[in-house]
Amino acid sequence: MSQIAGAPRVVRGAGAEAVLAQLDDEQRAAAQAVSGPLCILAGAGTGKTRTITHRIAYGVHTGAFVPEQVLAVTFTARAAGELRSRLAGLGVAGVQARTFHAAALRQLRYFAPRVLGGPMPDLIENKLRLVASAASRSRLSTDRTSLRDLASEIEWAKTTLATPEDYPVRAQAAGREPPFEPAAVAQVYAGYESAKQRDGALDFEDLLLVTAFALEEHPDVARQVRAQYRYFVVDEYQDVNPLQQRLLDAWLGGRADVCVVGDPNQTIYSFTGADPDHLLGFADRYPDAEVVKLERDYRSTPQVVSLANKLIGQAPPRRGLPGLRLLGQRAEGPAPRFSEHPDEPTEAAAVAQACRALVEAGTPAAEIAVLFRINAQSEVYENALSAVGVPYVVRGGERFFERPEVREAVLLLRGAAAGGAEPLVPAVRDVLASMGWVEHRPPPGGAARDRWQSLAALVDLAVDLVAEDPTMDLAGFVAHLAARADAQHAPTVQGVTLASMHAAKGLEWDAVFVVGLVDGVLPISQSLSRPEAVEEERRLLYVAVTRAREQLALSWSLARNPGGRRSRPRSRFLDGLVPGSTPTAPPPPRRQKRAKVVLEGEAGELFERLRAWRSQAAASASVPAYVVFTDATLQAIAETRPASLRELSALPGVGARKLELYGADVLATVGS
Ligand code: ATP
Ligand code: MG
Repeated sequence: MSQIAGAPRVVRGAGAEAVLAQLDDEQRAAAQAVSGPLCILAGAGTGKTRTITHRIAYGVHTGAFVPEQVLAVTFTARAAGELRSRLAGLGVAGVQARTFHAAALRQLRYFAPRVLGGPMPDLIENKLRLVASAASRSRLSTDRTSLRDLASEIEWAKTTLATPEDYPVRAQAAGREPPFEPAAVAQVYAGYESAKQRDGALDFEDLLLVTAFALEEHPDVARQVRAQYRYFVVDEYQDVNPLQQRLLDAWLGGRADVCVVGDPNQTIYSFTGADPDHLLGFADRYPDAEVVKLERDYRSTPQVVSLANKLIGQAPPRRGLPGLRLLGQRAEGPAPRFSEHPDEPTEAAAVAQACRALVEAGTPAAEIAVLFRINAQSEVYENALSAVGVPYVVRGGERFFERPEVREAVLLLRGAAAGGAEPLVPAVRDVLASMGWVEHRPPPGGAARDRWQSLAALVDLAVDLVAEDPTMDLAGFVAHLAARADAQHAPTVQGVTLASMHAAKGLEWDAVFVVGLVDGVLPISQSLSRPEAVEEERRLLYVAVTRAREQLALSWSLARNPGGRRSRPRSRFLDGLVPGSTPTAPPPPRRQKRAKVVLEGEAGELFERLRAWRSQAAASASVPAYVVFTDATLQAIAETRPASLRELSALPGVGARKLELYGADVLATVGS
């Protein structure tokens, strides 16, 4: 994944030239454009991330940038880690490279007392509990799936800056398919927000919103943040959503030192509100922006590049989208492999065997990845890799220096550094042995294995450092670890990466296995009713295949479990890619079933009468039915049979205005 770098070092002058020498002409021109708005619009593997990291290094080496004033943001923790390790590899220290969330969290922690009048509130990592109670207050009958869908609707609304009042109209315009009527979702959204406020907590979207708000409304905060950060870089900008864009605008405060890079063909978060128009419209917003296109793919073999081009070439053309075909630059490599298996454990066993063969032939395990559509697919691969004795990592280097075992090891190493002058590597091994770590003996799985691997990564790091600098001792190592912890520059944890396709964006491996490619998983079943959602799934596969430098294997299995019916069709996206197959036209969309209210007996009968009344009321006011009352509200009325306006007003979804407009009619319908 990422290279291990030596201790951060900055070389001025000559360093700047050396940095430029590692780029091609177009990339170099972009790297030298250190001031003003810059947009790089280019396909996978063309060196966008390389160009921006080199641009930062160039700016730092020439003195154009003060490293601490540069803020580079991206979307996933792994991608941020990749940025940090590439910057460290270029000898740049002090630049902040973070996810939007991590950057906002850091700033808000600092400003919370000033803008929120107290310490940093608790963060809600999972919305489900609050959504469930808001839904039950709205008298919706929910299950796990509909609760999850409600939470995604709330997330979508918040990332697109839609309030509960806006939600019904905006959701309809965006073609959302919420689990309940839009007005009911809006009600749950409002209920969720007020419950959250009562608890004094923030969710992840609030984190960005409140930070943007702090900058927009508090001139002193804005002044301080804008004095701190002067140069902004956004990687993977195709996936920016309106909320993140608002925060970026707040950071910029009208300034134009912003560089964005992205690939519209890799937009994989539009379902959650991301909008590639921010990227495509950048030059319109900044008419003096420099726009750079890159076409040469330096990452992958021509075989991988050709498959990627074919895959994305089968997508229906999109308006305003520049052609971004890739030109492979690397030497020829093996043809991508396709394989069909009877069931998932068999598929996983075959993939694990292939991983093992690669490792035995000399490919480091950290240069191999197994990518799947949903995290639930991970387990069968964890088991299969364990069974053949190949190490794997699920967490990657995320929060490496915050792991308890790493903290403990660093403390012990620091203690030992005060002592003797033993050579570094044995000294590190001794310290870790005192924590019960036994080299070459990774526990079979779970937390114990994660712990073992973290510690092994420290030994590997020591080995690499000694190779670079044989005089490195324990004190030097401890100082190096402190610098890395500061920069959040995790060492490479040895093991085959198991990751979702979403989490793989921006990264690369020598060998990539893209697994579980059946229709209903990729494209995922929830996407099938909407053509644009299916296209997003195609882009997801494009992201996955373009991670491979040399070896690419795609596989699927006909049944899920051994002995199950072998009925699952191969992913439609492979038609036209598998040798001898032809591309298929996209099938017509299938409508998704809506959750239906089921009421029995008298309540059911009243519910039907209320619905009939509502149709008339809606027709005479020329509004959609849910604007009058939602099914959930009608259900509540049918169940409680209010006898007065007061009783009616106590029900969810009956505000003062509705009471005035429809109260008498409803009571009459109930009483009839
Ligand atoms: P993605 O869209 O997948 O994020 P990207 O455009 O950011 O891709 P990079 O990751 O920067 O691409 O580059 C892909 C690979 O090609 C990296 O290993 C990078 O170091 C290498 N590369 C890019 N440009 C050059 C170059 N001019 N010379 C040599 N190698 C290069
Ligand atoms: Mg990149």
